[in-house]
Amino acid sequence: MSRPVYLDYAATTPVDPRVAAAMAQCLTAEGDFGNPASASHEYGEAAAARVAKARAQVAAAVGAEPQDVVWTSGATEANNLAIFGVAEYYREQGRHIVTARTEHKAVLDPCRELERRGWRVTYLVPDAGGILRPEQIAAALQPDTVLVSIMHVNNEIGVIQDIAALGAICAAHGAWLHVDAAQSVGKCAVAFAEFGVDLMSLSAHKVYGPKGVGALLLSGRGRAEKVHLRALQFGGGQERGMRAGTVATHQVVGMGLAFEMAAPAAPEESQRIAGLREQLWQGLAGLGGVFRNGDPRHSVPHVLNVSFADVEGESLLAAIRGQLAVSTGSACTSALQEPSYVLRALGRDDQLSESSLRFGLGRFSSETDIETAVAVVGGAVTRLRRVGGR
Ligand SMILES: *Cc1c(COP(=O)(O)O)cnc(C)c1O
Repeated sequence: MSRPVYLDYAATTPVDPRVAAAMAQCLTAEGDFGNPASASHEYGEAAAARVAKARAQVAAAVGAEPQDVVWTSGATEANNLAIFGVAEYYREQGRHIVTARTEHKAVLDPCRELERRGWRVTYLVPDAGGILRPEQIAAALQPDTVLVSIMHVNNEIGVIQDIAALGAICAAHGAWLHVDAAQSVGKCAVAFAEFGVDLMSLSAHKVYGPKGVGALLLSGRGRAEKVHLRALQFGGGQERGMRAGTVATHQVVGMGLAFEMAAPAAPEESQRIAGLREQLWQGLAGLGGVFRNGDPRHSVPHVLNVSFADVEGESLLAAIRGQLAVSTGSACTSALQEPSYVLRALGRDDQLSESSLRFGLGRFSSETDIETAVAVVGGAVTRLRRVGGR
């Protein structure tokens, strides 16, 4: 019994074997298992050297400086640290935040919590293709806006926002800019300093690194003052006091290598994946009543999100289960069977928002996988439409 074809790379990726090998070297007695904060012996020093190297690798992959990196348990924690950390530190300067309706829950839920605590949040609505116009952001800024949080690449529809344009607007206004870039690395150019971003969230497991590790990048964008945070956890003072807790050497070593490996292959890999996505789209479009979500002119090639008319989302997922591993919308919300809030924000009706599939393509995707996906989804949609009498 073979496993289903995996086309859910936007949810997570397998760990690259070289990454797994490097991680293993930091675990056992023969390896660099020491506590990187133990400065009194060579075990600690060896681990600290590994962590320093990983910091440099992550920074280099995204156009940042090693000292900008604060390790976290993933992009969720990085988003929480950025949003609560900035809000609390600057609470006397202002309590207004700007974000978008199409953000990941790891940004929206902290914002909702801040609303309960007395902050005001503006949720911008993108155009039908999922794109925010820089003028929209500019118009939403108020005298007491302290933070703008906008994602780089959307995890459900793959659209890319013009972060450099937002960086300039936020800098001119004096609001800090936080960017959730969990889906960007290895898929499109990420230039932390050049984009003028103040805080950026990263994750390892979307880029062939391990789950459970990420980073928050912090910079001062050359202003008189560097961005400050109120820490969320207190303890050993690691990560310059911004994230207490023993640094997980094996995890950050895995993230560092995964990030280093992501960048050089990116252009050719993206071209190959764009070809596969086109093959997939052409195959599905032939069914009729198929709608592409997200503006393909401003998207990474690794995601194809489509809605199917006259089909129930839950039945569609059930029909392809066992043959094809994909998701409806984001993995983090698909446990609740409700129409995708991202697609609703683009103006899709309930039926089309609920009957969507997200195909995530990656390093191990092949033309054969795409042929299988087209056949499986095509068969299921045709069958369900016939049963439904449509
Ligand atoms: C996956 C993802 C997250 C969550 O990252 P974790 O490392 O799993 O916590 C946040 N934002 C976006 C856009 C993501 O794709």
